[in-house]
Amino acid sequence: MKVNVIGAGLAGTEASYQLAKRGFEVYLYDIKPEKFTEAHSDKNFAELVCSNSLKSAELTNACGLLKYEMGLLDSLFIKSAKANSLPAGTALAVDREGFAKFITDEIMHNPNIHFITKEVTEFDISEPTIIATGPLTTSKLSKFLETILGDNYLYFYDAVAPIVTLDSIDLNKAFIADRYNKGEGDYINCGLNKEEYYSFVNELVNAQSVILKSFEKGDVFEGCMPVEIMAKRDVNALRFGPMKPVGIVHPVTNQKYYAVLQLRRDNLNNTLYNMVGFQTNLTFPEQKRVFSLIPGLENAEYVRYGVMHRNTFINAPALINEYYQLKEHPNIFIAGQLSGVEGYVESASSGLMCGINMAKYLENKNLIDFTSKTAIGSLPNYISKANIKNFQPMNANYGIIDSIALDTRDKKVIRNEIASRAIQIIKDNLNNI
Ligand SMILES: Cc1cc2nc3c(=O)[nH]c(=O)nc-3n(C[C@H](O)[C@H](O)[C@H](O)COP(=O)(O)OP(=O)(O)OC[C@H]3O[C@@H](n4cnc5c(N)ncnc54)[C@H](O)[C@@H]3O)c2cc1C
Repeated sequence: MKVNVIGAGLAGTEASYQLAKRGFEVYLYDIKPEKFTEAHSDKNFAELVCSNSLKSAELTNACGLLKYEMGLLDSLFIKSAKANSLPAGTALAVDREGFAKFITDEIMHNPNIHFITKEVTEFDISEPTIIATGPLTTSKLSKFLETILGDNYLYFYDAVAPIVTLDSIDLNKAFIADRYNKGEGDYINCGLNKEEYYSFVNELVNAQSVILKSFEKGDVFEGCMPVEIMAKRDVNALRFGPMKPVGIVHPVTNQKYYAVLQLRRDNLNNTLYNMVGFQTNLTFPEQKRVFSLIPGLENAEYVRYGVMHRNTFINAPALINEYYQLKEHPNIFIAGQLSGVEGYVESASSGLMCGINMAKYLENKNLIDFTSKTAIGSLPNYISKANIKNFQPMNANYGIIDSIALDTRDKKVIRNEIASRAIQIIKDNLNNI
């Protein structure tokens, strides 16, 4: 049986490999090496466009667990990473050229995979297809995708506010309350007095920002301004904007504040909170340093820092299910960054799941959901069930993996237990995939 895979990046090559080893005939398309997107320049597939780090290799880090699970599932991405690893402490770093070449050789020599170099601008939506064209999907294909998905459901840049874990917010300082008491305790509030506000703004406007790539300039800030730029334009802009204090009163002390940062619940399990209106382009260490000046966030743990960059992605909760499968067109799966996951490893993991589940779909068998008890299952479960109105991409983190009730608050102990459970779930399913 024939399957089309569009995009030979991290997700598309993994999906192709998984389908080919299950006996499917894969037609894999990429504009490379004839043309390149703004971020790609290597003729090989699976190009790491920026850092050569695949993040932590430790099981107490969700990305480490994700890689371990992918290894159990015979991931081509992991095979190549292991064959091309470089010493990098507890992280897994790779020789980027060797990494991409290993994957390209495997794809080009696989008798079940037929590679076609071509910019796909449209395709037959009745054929089984995995779309994996990534954050820089070309504009012609994006236009075509809008005709299938609806033009309100495809986005072209990220303007992401940071997300922190609930148990890292100091609730002796921060408090639960709704503006004008309208709501059901959906917000956590961090109140600042006048002095705290101005010292926070002073640090914010002098903090270091990420330097945007040339193709991103002018594009990403359209429609959504970072808090540091807002504060640079007017020292009071935040307290009349995202830190507006009106209608917010401490429920116990009745205290009012000069400025308030609100955090909104971000997941069904109520473990993660989103800093409302705090889109930012500061570097990650600067976000940690400057936002720790906000009372209640001194020791906040960031599962996702704020970012602003070019990124084509779909509104996953509106369009796909927990198998990365389009609800309206079950013969089409969306893999990689385009699906709403964020990061190299996460993109490859979604390609792996799309490959496995496209095979299941075409064989008329039950699709596989590893559930939110595993790292690989937590990503599609999170993105397909997130808030449609505020959807932003997500990376692997323990905040979206189901926790375990233990008689300890020691994070390492808890995470090791969660990881053991996840690994067992994957092992129990190996005969079924
Ligand atoms: C500039 C930049 C830097 C990044 N840095 C990092 C980082 O350091 N760490 C990290 O974890 N993540 C990073 N990311 C995010 C993300 O992890 C990577 O973009 C990752 O490569 C996404 O994998 P993917 O398979 O979804 O897409 P890609 O790996 O980009 O693969 C998509 C493929 O589709 C092809 N393609 C696009 N349009 C078409 C078309 N119309 N027809 C045919 N082929 C097409 C492209 O040529 C490409 O080969 C970065 C993203 C960007 C844009």
